[in-house]
Amino acid sequence: MKTVAPAFSSKRAAVLSPLSGLALAAALLVAGCATAPPFAYSVPAQPEGTSGYTEKPGWANASFAVAAANPLATDAGYQVLKAGGSAIDAAIAVQMVLALVEPQSSGIGGGAFLLHASGSKVEAFDGRETAPAAADDKLFVGADGKPMTFIDGVVGGRSVGVPGTVRMLEMAHRQHGKLPWAQLFVPAITLAEGGFKVSARLATLLKTEQHLKKDPVAAAYFYQPNGEPLAAGSLLRNQPLADVLKKIATGGSRALLEGDVAQAIVTKVQSHPTNPGKLSLADLAGYQAKKREPICHDYRAQARDYRICGMPPPSSGAIAVGQILGILNNTPAATLALDTGMGGTAGAAPSADWLHLYTEASRLAFADRAQYLADPDFVQPPGGSWMSLLDPAYLADRARLIAAQPGGQSMKVAKPGLPGGMKSAYAPMTEQPEYGTSHISIVDAYGNAIAMTTTIEDAFGARQMVKGFLLNNELTDFSFAPTDASGAPVANRVQPGKRPRSSMAPTLVFDKATGQLVMSGGSPGGALIIHYTAKTIYGVLNWGQMPQQAINLPNFGSLNGPTLLEEKRFAPATVDALKARGHEVREMTMTSGLQAITRGQAHGKPLWLGGADPRREGVVMGD
Ligand code: GLU
Repeated sequence: MKTVAPAFSSKRAAVLSPLSGLALAAALLVAGCATAPPFAYSVPAQPEGTSGYTEKPGWANASFAVAAANPLATDAGYQVLKAGGSAIDAAIAVQMVLALVEPQSSGIGGGAFLLHASGSKVEAFDGRETAPAAADDKLFVGADGKPMTFIDGVVGGRSVGVPGTVRMLEMAHRQHGKLPWAQLFVPAITLAEGGFKVSARLATLLKTEQHLKKDPVAAAYFYQPNGEPLAAGSLLRNQPLADVLKKIATGGSRALLEGDVAQAIVTKVQSHPTNPGKLSLADLAGYQAKKREPICHDYRAQARDYRICGMPPPSSGAIAVGQILGILNNTPAATLALDTGMGGTAGAAPSADWLHLYTEASRLAFADRAQYLADPDFVQPPGGSWMSLLDPAYLADRARLIAAQPGGQSMKVAKPGLPGGMKSAYAPMTEQPEYGTSHISIVDAYGNAIAMTTTIEDAFGARQMVKGFLLNNELTDFSFAPTDASGAPVANRVQPGKRPRSSMAPTLVFDKATGQLVMSGGSPGGALIIHYTAKTIYGVLNWGQMPQQAINLPNFGSLNGPTLLEEKRFAPATVDALKARGHEVREMTMTSGLQAITRGQAHGKPLWLGGADPRREGVVMGD
């Protein structure tokens, strides 16, 4: 294995400042020149990472591109694509490296959703975690009969669902892989054995993390003997993870879900000293990744028609994003340009009038989400189809509620509607915290694309480490309260074998007339994923932005309560104007981790434009 080349040379990642014609020409020059060498992974140089808000240049590549949350992970995907791998091949290499270098967000102990497009044919793969067969709707109800606090539910074995990511990737690879499965594990195994530098973001999160060190295995890995967390730039090796990855490389997902690794997971979960869980060997061995019908709907922006596709339930992501965009299109939003505001280097921010309409649309969407969205294998969609929630007539009706508010005031809290004309027997779920997660977008040279959002739920998941990887706490995405005060069941309550409702919104956008891919994107961020993703789609399609500009836009949203604004990013006049319309405004940190690739054009040739979130460590690479 040779050691190599500095990461991010101009060949690997042509950098494009939004208006730089030179960089654009450079991107075109390097395009299409190479015949693919056989896949031989070489470890890139590892510059110090950054945390906080770090400007990203934006990227352009003519043939293929990969966008992920950590430079080492992106590079692994790049090398796979360069060696002739497909988008799914690259996604697998990226995911395995993320499990090592961004362990706080995703990995083989978690779940994921993957959208795959071959041309305009879209498939949705569901690798969401499942509840154990022995779980019931009291899983997060304490001895006092009340729902536990969130963190009491999270830490320990109780919150751990059956991890689905590896089995889902295996399913997608069988269909769409070009390189052998085992080769895709080489980058992560090489880095785990040879060592990688702890990123600034991982080090920053470790500094404030309270619960991870209570697990002796995690403590020994993430902390120094004096109890201090690892510093940014320290070299970290992970032989136990390398050993598990080698087993999965040769034995497939069964090497994770059966045998000694599965036994270690079950023992860890069941024998947690204060908060054990009920996960069993049978739960793990029986896990099924699922292919589902993607949620696709039409969307019109700037006189062009698009088809937006996303994950169906158990994710609420695509439906909520689609509702927000669809409701907005029944308001004057499209006539409202960006303000110059104080929106950072891009200098742009949505205006107060636009934010009013956007957050009102969000309130309506989140009211429906709380009422209806849950695992489709357990819950009937309203009116017999999830598409009832995206029916144009229904969305037009919902939008009328915004216009009907006296004096143009905010409705503050919206009520769910009656999609499909049917009343629901379910009680709405109260909003619960969600964090963590990572997003990957890839386009390959063969006309395939993926959007994959992957998670262990909270940062560092359940804070339980087994054989070099962290276990998820995905079950806390279920409603802790099984019913409302009147005893009506919540759709997203815990049930055996059920998948918890998600907010993850991996998205693929197509030009409706040509069927060509226009965009792949998504983000981490709990329920705010929906807003981060909707913002980026809107910026690209409605405001004509490059993906980097759209990602840079300040974050905003509402979860059907206060209006949430990214702190220090909006002009005081904008905040005051929202307050004057009755919005309760909360300015706060909103750490999206958006990655997006969009189709551009230069000199009549297609060009993949890429963007990565300045709020995290992601980069884009390609040729
Ligand atoms: N568990 C969350 C979900 O599936 C994602 C958590 C996050 O992004 O922070 O929606």
